[in-house]
Amino acid sequence: MSEFSLELNEDQLQIQKWVHEFAETVARPAGAEWDEREETPWPIIQEAARNGLYSFDFIAQCFADPTGQLMCLVNEELSWGDAGISLSIFGSTLAVAGIYANGTPEQSAEWIPQCYGTADDVKLAAFGVSEADAGSDVSSLKSRAVYDEAKDEWVLNGTKTWITNGGIANTHVLVLSVDHTLGSRGQASFVVPEGTPGISQGQKFKKMGIRASHTAEVVLEDCRVPGRCLLGGKEKLDERLARAKEGKRTSTQAAMATFEASRPIVGAQAVGIARAAYEYSLDYAKERKQFGRAIIENQSIAFKLADMKMRTDAARLLVQRAAWMASTGKKFENGEGSMSKVFAGETAVWVTEQAIQILGGYGYVRDYPVERWHRDSKIYTIFEGTSEIQRLVISRAISGIHIK
Ligand SMILES: Cc1cc2nc3c(=O)[nH]c(=O)nc-3n(C[C@H](O)[C@H](O)[C@H](O)COP(=O)(O)OP(=O)(O)OC[C@H]3O[C@@H](n4cnc5c(N)ncnc54)[C@H](O)[C@@H]3O)c2cc1C
Repeated sequence: MSEFSLELNEDQLQIQKWVHEFAETVARPAGAEWDEREETPWPIIQEAARNGLYSFDFIAQCFADPTGQLMCLVNEELSWGDAGISLSIFGSTLAVAGIYANGTPEQSAEWIPQCYGTADDVKLAAFGVSEADAGSDVSSLKSRAVYDEAKDEWVLNGTKTWITNGGIANTHVLVLSVDHTLGSRGQASFVVPEGTPGISQGQKFKKMGIRASHTAEVVLEDCRVPGRCLLGGKEKLDERLARAKEGKRTSTQAAMATFEASRPIVGAQAVGIARAAYEYSLDYAKERKQFGRAIIENQSIAFKLADMKMRTDAARLLVQRAAWMASTGKKFENGEGSMSKVFAGETAVWVTEQAIQILGGYGYVRDYPVERWHRDSKIYTIFEGTSEIQRLVISRAISGIHIK
């Protein structure tokens, strides 16, 4: 039985330092520019690929950490540098989680390296569930996958919306309905490999925050993929559909399996933004003088900073617990994954708003980064399940009642 410890081990500390250096010297100084440009920061992704940060090997190393902490602390560090750039670097990870959670080991070995490419030929990946009429309610997907038995191909049709890296990704992992009468139990995940005809980018969205991260519609028009692109395989899908039709319990639904695995990681990104805003405003409050003294000498400012630090640390602890539970196979009995995501997301929004207040007018203008961090933070109460949906998960888990 190992002793309880929150101390990071040598490997984790070294990697944290390495990612922090990239965040401090590359991501942070570039944040404002790519926010204004609202474009994918290719040169930065390429630099991350050259130094090994954006690579299959590195992500595999992070996921292999038996404590589950590495992936979270790497995400916290990079989002501390800049959340939009961080998402453009780690956006592919959601597709990786989709393949890993739903695919066979052979499919993971084939498709996951393709999500990254190589340092000389960088690739991106996207994971798409959401549709115009199916956001929180993922059971009502309209996009369809139909099996063409003669050719052993799946024919995909429909439009996905709000997809991170949508249309610019080389590999798309998409959740579609194969039997709409079964709701979310009639869905499956498909890999659409690079160069497949019938997949294209629709509208690209102009956003409030995380503007260095590309968000767009993905349009499928008679898009044909080989049978082996169905994650988990046809046999397993047929078994699952048969069980669902008989009204029996089925294994976790395709989209949910992906989100469960990724919630603490998304929470860690929000912690990174909160920490950036806290540190920045702490320094500012010590420097800025009004009425002949540093503004931190006013209790109202000092207490704000105390609360910012306290909530950020509490959010990290929830993230660490959920990541540890997920990596050690402990079931989220009380919605612990959702707790980490909702608390960290709302903490980031709250902390960044306090940071603006501490900087006063300087907090409100684009010459300083805190207004951008506030804009960036807001997405963390919306994507990968809104705060309301996370509370639904937690309340159902603790009550055992199907709260609507
Ligand atoms: C920048 C960005 C990137 C994204 N990236 C991806 C991606 O890569 N892949 C992907 O698949 N999706 C992605 N999304 C989609 C995102 O996950 C959805 O926007 C989100 O799930 C909410 O869905 P919705 O926007 O349709 O809102 P809705 O579901 O319409 O919700 C609207 C409001 O109603 C509330 N609500 C809905 N149902 C309930 C209920 N039962 N109880 C209480 N309140 C409820 C919600 O909490 C919310 O406040 C992204 C979105 C954005 C904005």
